[in-house]
Amino acid sequence: MLPSVLFVASECAPFAKTGGLGDVVGALPIALAARGHDVRVVLPKYDILKPAQMWRHPEALAVPLGAGIAWCAVWESRLPGSEVPVYFLEHDALFGRGYLYDPPKGHAADNMVRFAMLSRGAFALARHLNFTPDIFHSHDWPSALVPVYANTTERGTALAGAATVLTIHNLAHQGISPEADLWRTHVPRECFREDGLEDHGNVNLLKGGLYHATMLTTVSPRYAEEIRTPEHGAGLENLLRFRAGDLVGVLNGIDTRAWDPAKDVYLPAHYDAQDLSGKVVCKRALQEELGLAVREDVPLLGVVTRLGPQKGTDIIAAAVPQLLGLGAQLVVLGSGDSRTEETFRYYSAQSPGGFRAKIGFDERLAHRIEAASDLFLMPSRFEPCGLNQMYSMRYGTLPLVRATGGLDDTVQQCDERTGEGTGFKLHDLSVSSLVETARWAVRVWRENRPHFRTMQYRAMRQDFGWERAAKRYGEVYRWALERRRGHSA
Ligand code: ADP
Repeated sequence: MLPSVLFVASECAPFAKTGGLGDVVGALPIALAARGHDVRVVLPKYDILKPAQMWRHPEALAVPLGAGIAWCAVWESRLPGSEVPVYFLEHDALFGRGYLYDPPKGHAADNMVRFAMLSRGAFALARHLNFTPDIFHSHDWPSALVPVYANTTERGTALAGAATVLTIHNLAHQGISPEADLWRTHVPRECFREDGLEDHGNVNLLKGGLYHATMLTTVSPRYAEEIRTPEHGAGLENLLRFRAGDLVGVLNGIDTRAWDPAKDVYLPAHYDAQDLSGKVVCKRALQEELGLAVREDVPLLGVVTRLGPQKGTDIIAAAVPQLLGLGAQLVVLGSGDSRTEETFRYYSAQSPGGFRAKIGFDERLAHRIEAASDLFLMPSRFEPCGLNQMYSMRYGTLPLVRATGGLDDTVQQCDERTGEGTGFKLHDLSVSSLVETARWAVRVWRENRPHFRTMQYRAMRQDFGWERAAKRYGEVYRWALERRRGHSA
């Protein structure tokens, strides 16, 4: 029997998603179910969930929290296109606030309690469903208390035999919360210590999870190495070195049905690796839609991202005039850091024929940019895995990335002598390094089109499906169970 798994997560596409974590939780369970795992997902029922067909369980769920019991309603749905059950925990005071993590430009002071409800609720839900999973699979700080509960408050219950796996999608967010609220989570006081949840006098939820989980994973092999260094460890590098033997890097897959240039519902024309004529139509349509000069002979550089320090978008913003100076067009879709937004808006007004910024989150436009662009810029300071470089490759849009984390693992450097490569990599994060690498890529596009075309073909034929990752997670679950139960299966 393959291990059964309960995913406990704060996001799950398409219901609620702010980034890559949501994509993973929306896709990996389907690939695991296809391999034969009994896998289910639980997440909060935010008031801002995307509309979906769901039904309510008649019985409410009692979750011990704070001074008494918090009651929540259980709703059920399925991951689209699958039989994977998704359960939503409804608690208006905690999740009915118009946001996932924090109010716009503000901070939710009680996130520890909000997400303790999710983690504690996962155990209550498992009992309510009469489901005894072999594995609880947590994702980042919002469900990092699951391994802590499994080792403490749940000890002695039927669910304590479950192994816990915690996946780090992004070490930059750790869930720092005031110690004064810890009692409300029912995590025993003795866990609040340096080799536990304590971090400079506060509670660090992720740190607690990293101590307590049976196995740890992160979303690319390179990032699994990087986070053990002071540069990328975000203060947790010593702990991650200590747990290195239990830490595995598994590269994310992508949703190859939603991101398929031969079928993509958002595109004006379709294409595949053999025939790129539809890509030319997509480029023209985007240039028209955004008011750019309609020119096939000008390389189009695309960017779709959160705007923030991680993504190196400050460097892109500072490089706009020089990038346009290469005779290229540039399209940016993103939102986030307000100064970067302003800079992009400014250039968008200055150079309408060559540069367009769309500030906001727009799934349709994201697909159209991926299809229309010749090159895709992703100069991240750090990148646990990154999805957009994989979407780009699948769309024959060669990524120009910084050689870090999953970007380094997935993109193969262009080599003009051998004809190899699937993209272009830079090492230093600076305007000059970005511009020089873009200059090189644009030159290959203009002057060495056969090589560029070969790279497109190769990039489009890479296997980025979830099957490979699901197989690997299956191994991790098996190892985790062996460790938890102290024997070889
Ligand atoms: P992260 O999770 O760090 O934001 P990833 O590259 O792993 O970065 O995943 C980002 C996901 O969010 C991708 O699916 C990407 O297409 C999407 N995305 C980011 N910004 C936008 C935006 N402004 N509009 C549409 N989709 C976006």
